[in-house]
Amino acid sequence: MRALLSVYDKTGVVELARGLVALGAELVSSGGTARALQEAGVPVRQVEELTGFPEILGHRVVTLHPKVHGGILADRDRPEHRADLERHGIEPIDLVVVNLYPFAQDPSVELIDIGGPAMVRAAAKNHQHVTVVVDPADYQPVLDELRAAGQVAPATRRRLAAKAFALTSAYDARVAEWLAQPAEASSGPPEGPGGPASALLPERLTLVLERSGEALRYGENPHQRAARYRLVGEPGFWDQVVQHAGVPLSYLNLYDADAAWTLVHDLAAWSGQPAAVIVKHANPCGAAVAPSLAEAYRRAYQADERSAFGGIVALSAPLDPETAAAMVQAAQADVVLAPGYEPGTVAELQARRKSTRVLEAPPPSPPLRHFRQIAGGFLVQDPPGCRAARSTWRVVTKRQPDEAEWRDAELAWRICARVKSNAIVLVKDGQAVGIGAGQQNRVQAGEIAAQKAAGRAAGGACASDAFYPFPDGVEAAAAAGVAVVVQPGGSVRDEEVVAAADRLGLAMVFTGERQFLH
Ligand code: 5GP
Repeated sequence: MRALLSVYDKTGVVELARGLVALGAELVSSGGTARALQEAGVPVRQVEELTGFPEILGHRVVTLHPKVHGGILADRDRPEHRADLERHGIEPIDLVVVNLYPFAQDPSVELIDIGGPAMVRAAAKNHQHVTVVVDPADYQPVLDELRAAGQVAPATRRRLAAKAFALTSAYDARVAEWLAQPAEASSGPPEGPGGPASALLPERLTLVLERSGEALRYGENPHQRAARYRLVGEPGFWDQVVQHAGVPLSYLNLYDADAAWTLVHDLAAWSGQPAAVIVKHANPCGAAVAPSLAEAYRRAYQADERSAFGGIVALSAPLDPETAAAMVQAAQADVVLAPGYEPGTVAELQARRKSTRVLEAPPPSPPLRHFRQIAGGFLVQDPPGCRAARSTWRVVTKRQPDEAEWRDAELAWRICARVKSNAIVLVKDGQAVGIGAGQQNRVQAGEIAAQKAAGRAAGGACASDAFYPFPDGVEAAAAAGVAVVVQPGGSVRDEEVVAAADRLGLAMVFTGERQFLH
């Protein structure tokens, strides 16, 4: 067996090489990979020795040679291929291990890998005879198969070939997307939210997705099949989440947990305090920040105890015994998400309810783009969220909010941005006390929020995700007892609305930024 190893990311390659040598394989490697193996004392031949041709053009041409590609592409079952090998002194290559220049991390012409993808595609094409490995996660399974059976099974070779073509197509899609941007914008990684529209909206967008893990039990409903996919070549957030306890995650668990995790991190980062969020049907029903995690949890739970049942609980700090105790007395959470768990806390949650999914998650990775499918295609936009800083907000009433009211107004606004429209959020002392979500008119969203607050909003803040078209919504907020109203402004009746706020003795802040969420 002859193996060709040419990897940019050298993780695990020495162990793989040792395993292959122990199985009697002969190794051939490109410059850097060969050096890494030689330093580890693994016998290896340089590609140059095989080809009789040196690396040229500063690493642009290394393995691009008939002695390499002939060795990979030869169909061993065809006499004319075997004859060609013999005539030209080409040695067959049975295993190709390659990972590519990291173009996505630092897009530039020099990081467009040419020789790597050529070998990967050649080996994948000839998978009937050649095994192609593009992911260090496959090193061990391939070694195991070689040890057990002396060869890699045809089904494995086919699966690895499909994985290889998925990688090269995703890689080329990245390059195409980068080149489609104007030259001045294409010197760095694609810009995030607020960046040039060309970065967000390239002419062509090719996403290569791969299914991650087993299919989900079902989708939103039992008659809908479902699975989770991630972008090829990217570490998917959910693949880094560790589940400590509970039954498998469902489609809706993943969707709701994503909403909860995003909001809890936003609130903790903004407030500099521990935060807790409880989500039901993609909307928060409880959210709070407080000096301790236990207090934040209690206040998030008490915001709407009835809705919290079966919810997704997201905590911004590792679960400590005090918070765990508070949770044991309280909600039956479907999912708990935290950045960590202090000793004993997972067991405590489990003792309360065995099926609760207990998850340890890294910080959320904000998506670059937001997609929604419609008939015949997709809508693409910047991800939702708050961009306009408080320094750009404008007080439009005679009354100015005091500092505590400002804090509540900001919190209400941040929560409101993560509630489906029409949304009204009432906050008092760092706690959401009333959330009215997903109503087709603003007045009723306000009524629901006030009803849930049941008097607890007195002296607090009211946020509206879009402008008040009439003064009635402001009157409802005043009736709920709030001291400050925060809203985007921009209605033709703003003057009337502000006059109503003045008449009712409210402070009102315009953020200048709408937060519709559908
Ligand atoms: P090494 O560190 O072994 O010198 O180089 C390994 C990297 O070079 C791998 O990422 C591989 O995809 C890439 N590579 C291998 N052959 C060629 C080639 O002929 N041209 C270019 N541009 N890259 C190559």
